[in-house]
Amino acid sequence: MSGHGRERLDEGNAAESIDLAPKIGLCAGMDHFLYRDGALYAEDVPVAEIAAAVGTPFYVYSTATLQRHFRLFDDALDGIDHLVCYAMKAASNQAILKTLAQVGAGMDVVSQGEYLRAKAAGVPGDKIVFSGVGKTAEEIRVALSGGIRQFNVESEPEMEVINAVALELGVVAPITVRVNPDVDAKTHAKIATGKSENKFGIPISRAVEVYARAAALPGLEVIGIDVHIGSQLTDLEPFRLAYQKVAELTEVLRAEGHNIRRLDLGGGLGIPYHTQSNDAPPLPVEYGMLIKHTLGHLGCEIEIEPGRLIAGNAGMLISEVIYVKSGEDRDFLIIDGAMNDLIRPAMYEAHHDIIPVVEPAAGIESQPYDIVGPVCESGDTFAKQRDLPPMAAGNLIAFRSAGAYGAVMASEYNSRPLIPEVLVNGDQFAVIRARPTFDEMINRDSIPEWL
Ligand SMILES: *Cc1c(COP(=O)(O)O)cnc(C)c1O
Repeated sequence: MSGHGRERLDEGNAAESIDLAPKIGLCAGMDHFLYRDGALYAEDVPVAEIAAAVGTPFYVYSTATLQRHFRLFDDALDGIDHLVCYAMKAASNQAILKTLAQVGAGMDVVSQGEYLRAKAAGVPGDKIVFSGVGKTAEEIRVALSGGIRQFNVESEPEMEVINAVALELGVVAPITVRVNPDVDAKTHAKIATGKSENKFGIPISRAVEVYARAAALPGLEVIGIDVHIGSQLTDLEPFRLAYQKVAELTEVLRAEGHNIRRLDLGGGLGIPYHTQSNDAPPLPVEYGMLIKHTLGHLGCEIEIEPGRLIAGNAGMLISEVIYVKSGEDRDFLIIDGAMNDLIRPAMYEAHHDIIPVVEPAAGIESQPYDIVGPVCESGDTFAKQRDLPPMAAGNLIAFRSAGAYGAVMASEYNSRPLIPEVLVNGDQFAVIRARPTFDEMINRDSIPEWL
């Protein structure tokens, strides 16, 4: 897990070692998913021990990595009034939320379910931001009744509904309006959100008009501006363009008489999915400096909503080889994990580093495998021609960088029960979501009386 040029934002001690000058040459330092004596560990727990206890496949998360990644953002905004609201859609288990809330995180939620889950994890309403393009009146009612930091409003019709619900409840709803700055985030099309053709936000060119309308609605209090341009951004330039536009808009709206005092800058900073690459995304500290440069002079409270960078490299998917199958021109590793457990490769052509849980002995020659799941779709392919040491049935493998948009996007396709989640903390581990039994899964169906 070492030897690459720049520190991976995953398991190392970047917080301690960040120094912008020698960007190349940071060493990985201590890791939280690391081989020790030939075995892969999650913090101080052997991954194989967890596998023996919970069965495969399963997700495992590292407390230390989650908290360290939160702190990287928190520290990056040191010196300005700010709140880091973890975008919990990346990984929403309550144990993860609590782990982050304990070190000061707020939450960015996009549904009633996420809102209630954050509350259940003990996050106070005044640290919960509600984003999303399709909030229903019921969702708005639940959030306004339970307490909310602000709604990030995405359209004029939504603004009217929030106003109506607030008046009905006799409260005033704090809002920002999400503006679409029309910048190209240069990321995968499915996770780009800041171009005018995307469904998100209102065109920045219409902001003055929309803010005037918001200010006229008695159930709303306009407090700021929101922007979120996409996910897995590997370059700061799109952020710079978007934030400059937000800075200009802040001045314009203030001149119009709006008390703009909070800027929600969204999430989206990418993570390194390839260990072997030196081409790592910018670090949170660089992102923080960009924020200070572009927006620091405005005296606004800053909110950011990172999801992937906090959870992504804090989690792995562990799976067992069921069969090694020799094809005509290639060997397949058929594993017990499948696209329903981790859909990113099928959905986004995403790359995950895949490593054996038993460290290959020195000098062992690796060979290429196609790594596939048991689901009846060719799309159930995790990787093609991936080099691994010779593998056999029963061997364990680990998908790195699987903590974000992994478990949360899982389904029971092929009637495969949702796989468990495990949280490690030092030398302890706990199942934070148990694998349902087959009966539990099957008995959720109900049979109409005519059958
Ligand atoms: C998805 C999303 C985020 C988090 O994005 P990451 O790439 O995971 O950091 C933040 N804010 C909003 C509004 C989102 O939709």
